[in-house]
Amino acid sequence: MLPTIARRLFHLQELALGRQSFRILDELRASEHWPVERRRQLQLERLQAMVRGAYEHTRYWRELMAAQGIQPGQIHTLDDLRRFPLLEKHTLRERREDMVWREEGKRLQLVRTSGSTNEALQFYTSSTREAHINAARMRGHEWVGVRRGEKELYYWGSPVELSKQDRVKRVRDWLINDGLTNGFEVTPARLKENFAAWLSWRPKCIFGYPSTFVLTVTMAEALGLELKELRQHGLTVIITTSEMLSDVDRQLITEGFGVPVRDSYGLREAGLIGHECDQGTMHCMDEQLILETIDPATLQPTDGEGELVVTNLVGPAFPVIRYRTGDIVTLAQEPCACGRTLSSIKISGGRAVEFVVTRDGKWVVGYAFIYIARSVAGIVKFQVVQEKLGAILIRLVVDERFPSDGIDLVKHKAAQRLGSDDDIQVEIVDDIAPARSGKYRPVISKVAEELHKNRAFSG
Ligand SMILES: [Zn+2]
Repeated sequence: MLPTIARRLFHLQELALGRQSFRILDELRASEHWPVERRRQLQLERLQAMVRGAYEHTRYWRELMAAQGIQPGQIHTLDDLRRFPLLEKHTLRERREDMVWREEGKRLQLVRTSGSTNEALQFYTSSTREAHINAARMRGHEWVGVRRGEKELYYWGSPVELSKQDRVKRVRDWLINDGLTNGFEVTPARLKENFAAWLSWRPKCIFGYPSTFVLTVTMAEALGLELKELRQHGLTVIITTSEMLSDVDRQLITEGFGVPVRDSYGLREAGLIGHECDQGTMHCMDEQLILETIDPATLQPTDGEGELVVTNLVGPAFPVIRYRTGDIVTLAQEPCACGRTLSSIKISGGRAVEFVVTRDGKWVVGYAFIYIARSVAGIVKFQVVQEKLGAILIRLVVDERFPSDGIDLVKHKAAQRLGSDDDIQVEIVDDIAPARSGKYRPVISKVAEELHKNRAFSG
């Protein structure tokens, strides 16, 4: 499809869904050049409106404000936001139904987070919020030279999305120039097929997880596939998301594909937070968010370094005020060579190799196990541990909803997903401690780490 037509069709789809995404995109293109003070004024106005809506339409926020002695008309400066207590993940989980303003916007829907932690969260979104997030995402992609309507390949996909990718969705994706390749299960044979398909589809940008790209580059090298050929077929940039992108990985992916890698950072429950520009600065979506940092131990505010706390200003259907993300970041407000006056964010922490390798050489991405964990009731947390080839241990923290045949169910589903004769053990544990970085790791595979280090792929 021609990019201009695809862009137009996407625009129509957004309008049909009640989303003013393109109007918001126009506004964002202007406000990213505003003086910082003017954008702070916009933040304050949005904060005031959001707090008012939260007070008038949701029980949770009304009760909380009453208990804290906050009147909705008393937000006079951005600092007044600190009168709100921090919002913890478990509160969001427990009080969800009291936090929603059901009449706001159109198409209110309950969605789930799909981040790298399995402590999945459900929250509400509406056309208003989705339009703002889509606009922010489009803006970020424009910063690195990709306009909506140009061919974007999504290299990921939940098994659900892929299996339900019926004809309607496939036609729709084709019309708006979105492509999808399964990045969940990578095998040498599939990589060869995918690579051929990409060469003929000619994506301008590929969007996916750092770990999938790293695996793809190292596996392609072992197979003698020249990923750089994609550049001659129109590829200009790789955009990563969802996981930490280390400098080493960035370099490896850049060298493998021969194009720049740009990172983005978002949390479904909080919105798109940052996106890199073509100068490599990760700019924050300041018009939509107020970002703060705290000391994770004392919970006291810090001056730009510490745990990120997010207030979303554009999701009135489900107000998120001072939400603790658990991510350690550095915030800054410095000039960037790109000319935008938006603030910037750096995320700390290292990457985890999140794959399991089956006996027959298939690399199964850690996210695949998240879907297994979600399909069985009562799994609160899980971790997949692979110490040696052929043996996979799944550790589960469960609650009373976990069925009596749950262990067999998980075993069965895991065997199905792995599609191999690996020995799978399931163990119920009291808790799973986070890694030293403080991040919970859903998959720890010594096998993958070793093979990766030695670039040992067969096929
Ligand atoms: Zn910049």
